[in-house]
Amino acid sequence: MKTLSISPHTAQVIITLEAAGFEAWCVGGCVRDSLLGREPADWDVATNARPEEILACFPNRPAVETGRRHGTIGIVTEGGLVEATTFRVDGDYAGFRRPVEVQFSQSLREDLSRRDFTVNAMAYHPDRGLQDPFGGQEDLKRRMLRCVGDPKSRFQEDALRILRCLRFAAVLGFGIQPETRRMALDCRGLIAALSGERVREELTKLLCGDWMYPVLEENALVLFAALPELEALSGCGQENPYHQYDCWEHTLHATEAVPAKPILRWAALLHDCGKPLVKTFDSQGTAHFYGHAEVGARLAGELLARLRFPRRELEAVVRLVEGHGEILPMGEKRVKRLLGALGEEDFWALLALVRGDISAQTAWVAAKRLPLVDQAEVLAEDILARGSCLAVKDLAVDGQDLMNLGYRPGPALGKSLKTLLEEVLSGELANEKPGLLARAGELLGDGARPM
Ligand code: ATP
Ligand code: MG
Repeated sequence: MKTLSISPHTAQVIITLEAAGFEAWCVGGCVRDSLLGREPADWDVATNARPEEILACFPNRPAVETGRRHGTIGIVTEGGLVEATTFRVDGDYAGFRRPVEVQFSQSLREDLSRRDFTVNAMAYHPDRGLQDPFGGQEDLKRRMLRCVGDPKSRFQEDALRILRCLRFAAVLGFGIQPETRRMALDCRGLIAALSGERVREELTKLLCGDWMYPVLEENALVLFAALPELEALSGCGQENPYHQYDCWEHTLHATEAVPAKPILRWAALLHDCGKPLVKTFDSQGTAHFYGHAEVGARLAGELLARLRFPRRELEAVVRLVEGHGEILPMGEKRVKRLLGALGEEDFWALLALVRGDISAQTAWVAAKRLPLVDQAEVLAEDILARGSCLAVKDLAVDGQDLMNLGYRPGPALGKSLKTLLEEVLSGELANEKPGLLARAGELLGDGARPM
């Protein structure tokens, strides 16, 4: 019998449920990942106990009941949350997403048969071993994603599975069984009806996967069904000396080249989405894309809002798309200004995006411009190490100092502080109190002072 090392707290949940006369198993992603030798993201338990029966087995533990309607109770253990879900058969599906009603079941096999892919439809028990009714182990060995049952009906039941298929391919580096892939493509139109949040979650994981490049290259049409704004990138040539790829291939290379963090991967995926909208040719036949960053930022903002991105993340991605065309080399003034305007974290993200964008251009552009990004990085580190003044809050004077001199609080006072910052950033003024106060006096004039 195959033995898997399951987390002790999950084992304890299984033992407790079974001591009360129920049947319980580890299921889904944690079994798949354990067999692959990967650390599971979370441990899920499936059981024939009903939600109220699960709760009754753990009277002394805090429980999370948000998924109760679907049969899931989260049990808070010392080793983290373990989710126990009642065996289910899914009822009718509506809106190509999630069953309308949840029907509980007494049968593990029934529960496994509603799961999406064979590699996700295995169960494991510390004493009874592996249950694998659909050949999941075989497919794990082949590194292959295959629907449980008929792919077309499984994708029609729930179109999110189409994106999950690409997600698992991108994260695990698995191939997609030909019929499953054909039907994913065939059914892609159903993706448009999915909720934005669910699409966002799957695509974010997909984009951060080590195999995002080959998966999106081979299945671009599926991605375009989820993000129609990107379709025009494909086949949009870049007839100029800086590029060797069309906009879509360039986008994929740039996305792969940035670190696998959600904000950066999304920003890279969207950074050139404005290009097809602004493309022009000059008399030499060279392509130009004037204003594409601003147009792209607007389009990206709409797309991300549709996917219900949290506001902070949406704004961070939009700022990156808007700023990706930063002109190199960057001098001290420019670096300071950006550090002040963006903050340290977003500044590093911008440099990473610029680096990814450049490394997806022709070799001579990369050879010439990547060292300029390195230079900007060194400069920024130096500026930060010196504790330079980058924002109004770093000025040697503040609003209180000006009010102490008798200036009234209000917009004029705030504006004068901003002007002081501009002049400090540009090197016209030193960040020292006497000079700043004198200059503030000039800016505000005696009119701003009470008589
Ligand atoms: P992760 O490593 O991201 O947690 P996972 O395989 O555990 O991967 P989850 O989204 O946590 O994925 O889902 C847990 C399990 O529930 C899956 O392994 C699969 O068996 C099943 N499942 C999840 N979503 C669906 C779906 N839309 N259709 C069918 N089965 C699903
Ligand atoms: Mg999981």
